[in-house]
Amino acid sequence: MSNSILEPEEHVLSTLERDGSRRWLKPKLSKGKLLTLRRWMAYLLIAVFTLVPFIKIGGKPFVLLDIVARRFTIFSFTFLPTDTILLAIFMVGMLLTIFLFTALFGRVWCGWACPQTVYMEFVFRPIERLFDGTQGRGGRKKDVPAWRIGAKYFVYFLVSVFLANTFLSYFIGVERLSHWVRQSPIDHPVPFLIMALVTVAMMFDFCFFREQMCLVACPYGRFQSVLLDQNSLIVAYDQNRGEPRGKAKKSNANSAGELPVIGDCIDCGNCVTTCPTGIDIRGGLQMECINCTQCIDACNSVMNKLGRSPNLIRYSSQSRDRGEKSGLLRARTLIYPLLLAGIATAFITVFLASKTFDAVILREPGNPSIITEDGRVRNLLKLKLTNRRDETMTFVANVSEPNDVELDLSEDALELEPNETKTFHIGVIAPKSIFQFARATILLQIENDKGVSRTLRFKLIGPYD
Ligand code: SF4
Ligand code: SF4
Repeated sequence: MSNSILEPEEHVLSTLERDGSRRWLKPKLSKGKLLTLRRWMAYLLIAVFTLVPFIKIGGKPFVLLDIVARRFTIFSFTFLPTDTILLAIFMVGMLLTIFLFTALFGRVWCGWACPQTVYMEFVFRPIERLFDGTQGRGGRKKDVPAWRIGAKYFVYFLVSVFLANTFLSYFIGVERLSHWVRQSPIDHPVPFLIMALVTVAMMFDFCFFREQMCLVACPYGRFQSVLLDQNSLIVAYDQNRGEPRGKAKKSNANSAGELPVIGDCIDCGNCVTTCPTGIDIRGGLQMECINCTQCIDACNSVMNKLGRSPNLIRYSSQSRDRGEKSGLLRARTLIYPLLLAGIATAFITVFLASKTFDAVILREPGNPSIITEDGRVRNLLKLKLTNRRDETMTFVANVSEPNDVELDLSEDALELEPNETKTFHIGVIAPKSIFQFARATILLQIENDKGVSRTLRFKLIGPYD
């Protein structure tokens, strides 16, 4: 049986060979104005990604995503585990901002600012080109000596270790990270294992997975079809100008010796061999396009050599390509900002309403009430306090109603470190007389050292008689 029955006529995916194996991409670097701009942008972003964990405002980190402590500091504002509503509003606001940005500027983030693209195209690929050299379509030279390949992977490893440490510092902070780095791996195997695993993940991503991250793993890339509209900025080939593509050959001249009328695209394929996701942008808008603009630089360089005007491939929009007017004002670019304004208002309202501290009272599990030697009823409770300020706070607790109820605190002072949540065990001793049908309501007043107080209502459990 012929193999051709099983083989598709064309590539189903840009990174799959016809037999289903991985098609490794070695994109050719295309120099041009956009590459120069992207390169400067990338260097700036690498500096920002690296330095952000070191930035502190008023002694607080600018960004720290402490998952273990369930405390997220973003723009120096700390979201505590009790800030579910604030965090939810913030996340919805971030999502809407992404929607608005994508509707206006398409995948500018992917091509210009995403860490995956920035590190892949401006750190790992240059290292690869340095050690492997390039030829033809941008692939590595044949017969690269083993030592060069080994050296390349060693440099990859060093960069991955650095990246792993940078990445981890967003989650554990630079102080804890530097402590981990100075520890012996034998004494502290868990931190060492975490660093090793993140380094391996970086190596896997940048040495093996590469463009697959954008093509199959990134959710933002998958959502493009719904986030973009007809007026969004895209990288597009000008079909009207480029087609029919091909080179004017004398052999194709008609009987009168006239050469056929052809478009500006000479079908050189440079826009394809330079593409880091392996697509041909002349086929129209594709989900795989990360708007890296390499095809624009490649084609402009061809047009320049031919003495033709540039921008056969350029930033455009689907409506502009159809000859329609393309504007910024449209339904989604009006609705998203309105929703964002609502979200910002909700965030500010909830933020201003939140107190300087949170207090919750809970019943101890097990046997919550006992009769004391002097015949009173003792309830065992848990008082959970959260200090929402960046300074130490001390609290005083007392029962405001009824008068003859006493508190027995497990600790001398109710003191909390900045942004700390702590549970205190308290005993509430009340006379039997206040219980009706085995229940008695008390008002517990918690006041901090700044005079801010909260009153909690709680039902004690007691005997029926
Ligand atoms: S089609 Fe052009 S802009 Fe899109 S990913 Fe390929 S090279 Fe980059
Ligand atoms: S680089 Fe330009 S001229 Fe060459 S194939 Fe692509 S679109 Fe056509």
